[in-house]
Amino acid sequence: MYLHGTSKVNAQGHLEIGGCDVTELAKEYGTPLYIVDEALVRQRANEYVTAFQKSGLKFQVAYASKAFSTMAMCALAEQENLSLDVVSDGELHTALKAGFPAARIHFHGNNKSPDEINMALDAGIGCFVVDNSTELKVLNALAKDKGLTVKILLRITPGVEAHTHDYISTGQQDSKFGFDLTNGAAKQAIKEAMELSNLDVLGVHSHIGSQIFEVDGFQMAVEKMSAFAIAIRQDLGLTFQVINLGGGFGIRYVDGDSPLPVGQYVAAITDTLISSFTAADFPLPEIWVEPGRSIVGDAGTTLYTVGTSKEIPGVRKYIAVDGGMMDNPRPALYQSVYEAVLANRANEANEETVTVAGKACESGDKLIIDLELPKANSGDLLAVFCTGAYNYSMASNYNRFRRPAVVFVKDGESDLVVQRESLDNIVGNDLLPARLLKTALAK
Ligand SMILES: *Cc1c(COP(=O)(O)O)cnc(C)c1O
Repeated sequence: MYLHGTSKVNAQGHLEIGGCDVTELAKEYGTPLYIVDEALVRQRANEYVTAFQKSGLKFQVAYASKAFSTMAMCALAEQENLSLDVVSDGELHTALKAGFPAARIHFHGNNKSPDEINMALDAGIGCFVVDNSTELKVLNALAKDKGLTVKILLRITPGVEAHTHDYISTGQQDSKFGFDLTNGAAKQAIKEAMELSNLDVLGVHSHIGSQIFEVDGFQMAVEKMSAFAIAIRQDLGLTFQVINLGGGFGIRYVDGDSPLPVGQYVAAITDTLISSFTAADFPLPEIWVEPGRSIVGDAGTTLYTVGTSKEIPGVRKYIAVDGGMMDNPRPALYQSVYEAVLANRANEANEETVTVAGKACESGDKLIIDLELPKANSGDLLAVFCTGAYNYSMASNYNRFRRPAVVFVKDGESDLVVQRESLDNIVGNDLLPARLLKTALAK
């Protein structure tokens, strides 16, 4: 059993996270429950900050809030001196409500609406990462209306394909994101941006993929971006002040995943950047990165209660838990794999191989295929590890299940940071038109 962060098995054989016995957490908050190991999130954030400090470069580590966006997480990111990426009015609102300093917010997305742009301009965010030519014109016009000059990065598709699952690669040429570097679109976009009166081009951004275990993709991206910076300075007389390398740093979900320590990714990026820019006698730019998964992923655990089971002799045994694809769609979306333990009997030897099914009306609603467990009974607790990223943030109300609560645990204390949805939340936005109201009331 691989235990992350502060997780351990206590004397009663119960899983403990942040000094909290998860069987107690289940009693207090119910299941399914997202549990976040706050110390581990802080540790990960600190690993990035420390590694960049070592490089001597100016930097920003922007937490990609799409991985897990809540007010508490934004506040924690603030305390850890991170910047913040947002991709929607909802993520921006969450950050602002949490008191996150607008100047450290970066706005991403390939189809920002005028309303979202106006909201971000009014909030005074630090930077827009502009994705396309339409956005350049719209952003410039809206900034002009408000008498503002806005700082922008241009999102570039550098033609680097990171070694990763197809659905989560974004750096290759055939991508919905950004300006293509190889076909000249990127240079054309810089030219266009420089001619627009209310935009201030700080530099460029690339994001080559996700769950990446090697440094070579990042190094290639740095080399392409620095070559581009040098060419732009030569041809257009603009000196980039910022190079943003995006996120995508991998984490260990299961045995066989072999991420590098954060410091090694960062050193590979900063070393490559320093040598390419120094060689060209180019003033060293600031370096920005945008980790999401690697900040929160392994700090999250989802706790479920085991309910029914079904054995198909000679085929497989299913055990069903009280959540599923509605709180974790990743296995169904990406065939993602996870490890898990019986959290109330964590010291017991494994006896059988089961498939963990959710309770949604979808045959594909399986969280883990072929998991080794002790014989699980109804009422046992199942803890699935590494669910901190892209679980709560991707959760849905499919089948009108209620989204679970989220607790932060640290030093033996637990704090609710998102309440479990209520049944009234489920119908909260529903309306009954008059002609239907009659029928509904007659019954
Ligand atoms: C998704 C995304 C990130 C974060 O990716 P992780 O794999 O979670 O680190 C960062 N930047 C951009 C532009 C993204 O789309």
